Amino acid sequence: MAQTMPVRSSGAELVSRNPATGEEIGRAPQTMPEEVARAVGRAREAQPEWSKRRFSERGRLIMKARKIILNEMEEIALLISRETGKPVSEAFSMELATTLDLMQYFARKAASLLSPRRISVGQYALMGRSSYEIYKPLGVVGIISPWNFPWATPLDEVVMALLAGNTVVLKPSELTPLTGLKIKDVFDRAGLADGVLEVVTGDGSTGAALVGAGVDKIIFTGSVATGKRVAEAAAKYLTPVVLELGGKDPMIVLDDANIPNAARGAIWGAFANSGQCCAAVERCYVHESIAERFITEVVTETKRLRQSIGTEQTADVGAMTSERQLLAVQRHVDEAIDKGATALTGGDRVPDSAGPFFEPTVLVNVNHDMDVMRDETFGPVLPIMTFKTDEEAVRLANDSIYGLTASVWTGNIARGRRLAERIDAGTVMINEVLYTHGIASTPWGGVKQSGLGHTHGRRGLLELVSARHIHVNRLSFLPDLWWFGYTPEAGRLFRGFARRFASGSIFQAMLLLPQMIRRLTERRP
Ligand code: NAD
Repeated sequence: MAQTMPVRSSGAELVSRNPATGEEIGRAPQTMPEEVARAVGRAREAQPEWSKRRFSERGRLIMKARKIILNEMEEIALLISRETGKPVSEAFSMELATTLDLMQYFARKAASLLSPRRISVGQYALMGRSSYEIYKPLGVVGIISPWNFPWATPLDEVVMALLAGNTVVLKPSELTPLTGLKIKDVFDRAGLADGVLEVVTGDGSTGAALVGAGVDKIIFTGSVATGKRVAEAAAKYLTPVVLELGGKDPMIVLDDANIPNAARGAIWGAFANSGQCCAAVERCYVHESIAERFITEVVTETKRLRQSIGTEQTADVGAMTSERQLLAVQRHVDEAIDKGATALTGGDRVPDSAGPFFEPTVLVNVNHDMDVMRDETFGPVLPIMTFKTDEEAVRLANDSIYGLTASVWTGNIARGRRLAERIDAGTVMINEVLYTHGIASTPWGGVKQSGLGHTHGRRGLLELVSARHIHVNRLSFLPDLWWFGYTPEAGRLFRGFARRFASGSIFQAMLLLPQMIRRLTERRP
C-alpha cells in the first residue's frame, strides 16, 4: 500500500514533483556552497544602492510586484497546489490573499513604522539632554524557509526585509523550489536591480552554506531540530537569528462555547493544509459537560470533508506534501492506538491512493503519555481530551515544550481573556484558530521551543533593522557635572545624585539645582 517516495533530488538538480500524482513539475539547481557565497556577494554589492532609495520608492517596487502577482494569481495558485499537494482554494485563501495584503500594508506603513522614535530621558532633560532612536538596514538578510507555505512564508519575509532597506538571499525548501523561483521571477520583472533578491535552491547543505556565508541576519522557519542547528552554526559568526519553529498548539473549548462553531473551527484548524501548519490545532481539550456533543459534531463535520487532488476545485483536504511526513503522522496515530486511543474516524492513509493522502483523523481516549499529545504531528490528526476545571485546562495547555499559538473558545470574552493570558504561547486567540499569521500588523513568533524573535507587525520589522541610539546635549558650552575635578563639594553633589537624582522624581532632582550651579562655577583645583 505504501508507495515509494518520489525522487526529489538527482545529482546537482532538484526534481520537483506533484506529491498527489508523482508527476514531475520541473527542476531547479542544487546550489553549491561557492555559488551561495557568490549570491551573498552580489547581494552585498547591491545593498548600499538599494538602501539609499526612499521608502516610497521601495514601496512602489513592492506594489509593482504585487500587481504582477494579481495578474498571475491563477497560475501561481496552481503551482503552489501542484508543488505541495494542498487545495488550490487554500493556495488562494492562506497564501495569495494574505501576502497581497501584507505587501500593501508594509508598502504603505514601513516608513512610519521605522521613523525615528523619541526616547524620554526623564530628569536628564533638566540638563538639556534628549535621545532618539533611528533604524538602519542590517545589510544582507538570509531567509531559509519550509515547504508548508512555500509562497507566503518566504514572500512575507522577503517583502519586509526589502522594505527595511536590506538585500536578501532566499533559500526555499528543497520540496518547493519552483515556488521560490517564482518569487524571484516576479521581483525581477517588477524591476528589482541585480543582487537585491537572490534565490538559491537546494537542500539543507545549501541552507547551511547560507548560514556560513557571512549574512547579517538569518530568518529561519522550519523544525525545532534544524532551527537549533542553524542557531549553533550562526553563533560561530555571532550572526543574529530569528527562529520560527514548530508547535503543538492547544485548543480549549469551555462549557459555554458555541459548540457547532467550535467544532468547525477545530476541524479547519486541524486539517487545513492536511494539518501541515505550524499553528495547526494539534491538541483539543473540551469541558467534560459538553464533550459528547462537541465530539459528535467534530466527527460529523470531519466525515463531510472531501479529500482529493488539490487542483480539484471542491477539494477540502489534499495530499500531504511528502511520503516521509505521512509516515511520521502514521507513527503518531499507531502509537496512540497501541496505547489505548480510539480513532472515531480516519486513522490511516487513504486506501489505494496514488500519493501521500492521509485521512482526516479524530482521536479520543488520548493522554499526555502519547507522542500525538506531546510532539508535533504535522498532519491531519485531531486528538481530543476532556477536562473538568479551567485550572486543569490551563495546566494541560501549558504542559508542552512548545508555545506557538493556542486558542480558548467561550461565550464569555472576559473569562476567555483571563485564561488566554495564562497560556504560554506567542499568540492566544479567543474563538479563533490558526489564522493570525495572515494579519500583517500583528506580531508572529513562538515562546519556549517554538522559537525566538518575530516576523510580521512592527516587532517583525524591527528584527530587520539595526536600532541606533542618538543622544544630544544642547548645552554644548557647559562641562558635565561628573567630569574631573573631584572636590568635597563635588562629592556632596554626587551623593545627592545617588539619593535624589536617581529617585526618578523630577522634583527631587530639581532640589539639587543650587548644588549643580555651584559645581559649575566652582574653581577647579
Ligand atoms: P526543516 O527544518 O526540515 O527545513 C526548513 C528549511 O531548512 C529547509 O529549507 C531546509 O532545506 C533547510 N535546512 C535543513 N537543514 C539545514 C541546515 N543544517 N542549515 C540551514 N538550513 C537547513 O523544516 P520543514 O520540514 O521544511 O518544515 C516543517 C517545520 O517548519 C515544522 O516543524 C513547522 O512547524 C515549521 N514551521 C514553522 C512556522 C512558524 O512560523 N513558526 C511556519 C511554517 C513552518
